[in-house]
Amino acid sequence: MMEAACHCGAVRLSAPEPTQVTECNCSICRRIGARWAYYSPSEVKMPQPGTTQPYVWGDRMLAFHRCKSCGCVTHWQSLDGARDRMAVNARNMDGLDWERMRIRQFDGAGAFKYVEEPA
Ligand SMILES: [Zn+2]
Repeated sequence: MMEAACHCGAVRLSAPEPTQVTECNCSICRRIGARWAYYSPSEVKMPQPGTTQPYVWGDRMLAFHRCKSCGCVTHWQSLDGARDRMAVNARNMDGLDWERMRIRQFDGAGAFKYVEEPA
């Protein structure tokens, strides 16, 4: 398990070490600059309740959570719980080997699909 902690350390999640992450160019992800690692919520040890502030907008499908103290974005969750999927911001994980990580580009602003890397 890898720990994903915000800068001040108030928000800490634990999740299996990712082998690939996603960068998305949608209106919020490009602002946040996150590299998302996706999980089933059952795989993730969640932070202490009350340490994050959620941000919800638009069709209200997802809540983006940031630390109440230092503001670092730590994860997103499905609001209705219907999707067995959440994402952890892997940039908050210390000690990841970014040289070996597969970094996939998702065109969330346009085609809403992955941009495949050249072979
Ligand atoms: Zn913090």
